[in-house]
Amino acid sequence: MVCVPFEYTAVSTYDDAVRALVEHGEDAKVLAGGQSLGPMLALRLARPAVVIDINDIDQGQPEVAGEVLRIPALTRHRTVVDSPLVRQHAPMLSECTSRVGNVRVRNRGTIGGSLAHADPTAEIPCAALALGADIVVRGPDGDRAVPARDFFVTYLTTALEPSEVVREVRLPALRPQQGWSFHELVRRASDFAVVAVAVVVELESDAATVRSAEVALAGVADRPVPAGREAVAPLIGSSGAPAEVAAAAAAIAGNTSPDGDVHASGAYRRRLVDVLTRRALTEALGRARTSGV
Ligand code: FAD
Repeated sequence: MVCVPFEYTAVSTYDDAVRALVEHGEDAKVLAGGQSLGPMLALRLARPAVVIDINDIDQGQPEVAGEVLRIPALTRHRTVVDSPLVRQHAPMLSECTSRVGNVRVRNRGTIGGSLAHADPTAEIPCAALALGADIVVRGPDGDRAVPARDFFVTYLTTALEPSEVVREVRLPALRPQQGWSFHELVRRASDFAVVAVAVVVELESDAATVRSAEVALAGVADRPVPAGREAVAPLIGSSGAPAEVAAAAAAIAGNTSPDGDVHASGAYRRRLVDVLTRRALTEALGRARTSGV
């Protein structure tokens, strides 16, 4: 397929990107790694009049500031996977990013692009939700931080205004007594998830009682979604014993009503939520219990 003709412009600062977006409005598309935009252009699913290439923006490497891990939006998936800093402070992000596409996709694709693209079965948006990420966007009035829970609106749609660009992702660094897990089912290695589950749990200082549990799901709705509070609530204050974990996973699955498609029926997806959530909670609690060891 051949894409429709477009004007190409490259910028070297976020402010120039914003200026170009203000000038061209909804006729413009930002180009980061091109791993989703490229196919969409080729299939004519995207028909921008102007493509704004942000790859010349120099924005450094992931870094830790206080208890926050800051990852520049243009950080390639491969860098996220390979970074010892990310592995130490947000190991779930490293793990889920290693499942994105294949090595060629990970060499070019960016964390900001994956979040902005907002595929409801993508791994990184799901993990960002469970991790409580803030997505920092630059617009005509400067920066604003959008919590991941408010960022994903529906299929391929985010809270980004037409003149805004994703600049950075901020994640709370993993704390002692916390554990994490990411599980997904894919038809083939490198595919998007049929269903994915991301979990972060925290234990009380006695290391025996569950203080909090964040569970995010992909592949069950038009966007990544948090598990319902009431389904997770019985786990809080419990010991996280297998029966309690199984009850929470069943309740979380029972709260979903996924649609079926060519990859899986709705009922099969709901069953996957149950099984994968049980596995993920069990693994995350195990990691939390041994985190100080
Ligand atoms: P681009 O393709 O450049 O842009 C995607 C969209 O986001 C565009 O609308 C663009 O305008 C917008 N955008 C990009 N960056 C910004 C920004 N900083 N601010 C505002 N808007 C921005 N993804 C998965 O999650 N899981 C998979 O298993 C998976 N498998 C893949 C397999 C193949 C063969 C391919 C080609 C892609 C796959 N992907 C998968 C997609 C991949 O993760 C992309 O890298 C990602 O979705 C988009 O990142 P990008 O940097 O390439 O963005």
